Amino acid sequence: MPVPGSIAVLGGGLTGLSAAFHLSRRFPTTTITLINKETRFGGWVRSERVKADHQDAEVLLEAGPRTLRPNARSVLELIHLLDLTPSLLTVPKSAPAAKNRFLYIPGSQGIHRIPSSPLEVISSLLAPNAHLGRTLLSSLLREPLKQRNRPLGIDDESVDDFFTRRFGAEFARLFGSALVHGIYAADSRKLSLRATFPSMWDAEERGRGSALLGFLRAPTPSQLTENTSYDLGDLQEKMRDVSVFTFKNGMGTLVNTLVSYLRKQPNVHMYSGVRIMSLRLNSRNNRFEVTTSSQETLLPTHVVSALPLPELRQVLSPATPLPHLTTNTYSSVTVVNLVFGLSPSSSLPLHPDGFGYLVPRPRDGYVASRGSGILGCVFDSSSTAAQDTPGLVKMTVMLGGPYICGSVSPPQVDVPNLLSELAHQLGRPLPSPLFVKVHSNTRCIPLYAVGHLQRMEELKRTLASEPWNGRLEVVGAGVLGVSVGDCVEAGRSVGRTWG
Ligand SMILES: Cc1cc2nc3c(=O)[nH]c(=O)nc-3n(C[C@H](O)[C@H](O)[C@H](O)COP(=O)(O)OP(=O)(O)OC[C@H]3O[C@@H](n4cnc5c(N)ncnc54)[C@H](O)[C@@H]3O)c2cc1C
Repeated sequence: MPVPGSIAVLGGGLTGLSAAFHLSRRFPTTTITLINKETRFGGWVRSERVKADHQDAEVLLEAGPRTLRPNARSVLELIHLLDLTPSLLTVPKSAPAAKNRFLYIPGSQGIHRIPSSPLEVISSLLAPNAHLGRTLLSSLLREPLKQRNRPLGIDDESVDDFFTRRFGAEFARLFGSALVHGIYAADSRKLSLRATFPSMWDAEERGRGSALLGFLRAPTPSQLTENTSYDLGDLQEKMRDVSVFTFKNGMGTLVNTLVSYLRKQPNVHMYSGVRIMSLRLNSRNNRFEVTTSSQETLLPTHVVSALPLPELRQVLSPATPLPHLTTNTYSSVTVVNLVFGLSPSSSLPLHPDGFGYLVPRPRDGYVASRGSGILGCVFDSSSTAAQDTPGLVKMTVMLGGPYICGSVSPPQVDVPNLLSELAHQLGRPLPSPLFVKVHSNTRCIPLYAVGHLQRMEELKRTLASEPWNGRLEVVGAGVLGVSVGDCVEAGRSVGRTWG
């Protein structure tokens, strides 16, 4: 294929920014136009530094992604190429925030540490809520002995079906549903295993039916991919003992630096506060026609859509439909940032040192009227205290998701009620917060339904054939992976067959 004459990147979230970054380096003489509906680039990444009290105390709040895992090489590469290493804030694997994760069991009071080693599993049998340890121990001991039980002929299933088959229904509810709440704010009974936890599907294959044995036989990460394909400098080495990381000024650092970089590139044009109204392929001149809310029509030869898939469906000409853009629903999540002052009179910390806790699906399912629908709470101060004025305690509560499935937007949050539920779950009283910020994130996380990967393969095949011939690439959280790492990787991968 000849080098693209001009490229339009639709959507300036992390996927679109990453796409524009890599395309501008790969095709330095091609005009690249990035168009974003909101005036602020970055999509769901929203970091904000606020005053937490009437004095000078400041905290960094996140409404979207807050920490990343260092296995996302495409993100490490951006950090290296954009010279962001000095801005990193890392949590070592040895820190309590990396080692201590908790569960709140609906109906009980107080949170329970999830054992993270065989010894801890055994000692958890003596803990006040021995049910957790018992479920974990019996499920893990039985799984390798269980017959191969994947139904013949299936090529996907729900996360819950997988955990139930291999580890039992109680394990699936307690641990599987909580894990899915923490990442997707979703119901594990509705989410595709292969699209969300492909390593589990693969481990079961490798272990000839046993996922645990499969994990023990897992290839090492260095055997899986070549280090040399990413420009990482010594960053991977520096991140060897890191559990998660962010930036001193939050995730917005990555967005702001990408935006500044792109603004300086002579071949990149950036439009924000401009909405794509329509996308059409003109077969007569083999160009796309992209109309915008600023009454402009762009005529690029190649297009990258980094829009949410339902949005792409809205703008796409009905003459050239694409399959599966609206199959998945989206989860709506309310994120509540809470900032407390340290009370000099209280000896009890507001939460134990650790990453935070998750709440599994209640036994009787998601009852809309059940409290605030808390999915989990992150103890930000345990991992990112260096972002804030010392002496503050920062927590973030996530609620909604499957509790409000079907609603257009998350309901209003009753903060006093939320605080008393939180105190009950933490098993300790909470003082009045110094600062509360509520973010209603409507339709923010795509929920990959069972069969998602096959549908995305079909989409890919359609895009590779007439009339598109590979000149429209569709990427973004709705396609193959919602994490920041997946999105940056997807942006990095576009245009490989161009030029
Ligand atoms: C609350 C929350 C917490 C999360 N936490 C984590 C985390 O801790 N770690 C992690 O790895 N991931 C996390 N994620 C996931 C991750 O942040 C997102 O999946 C990712 O940021 C999505 O990026 P994107 O660019 O694909 O989509 P988006 O961020 O949705 O960006 C799409 C962009 O398209 C623009 N747009 C839409 N319509 C139009 C139009 N018609 N014309 C022009 N532009 C348009 C929008 O303005 C937006 O900027 C979290 C997500 C949420 C919502």
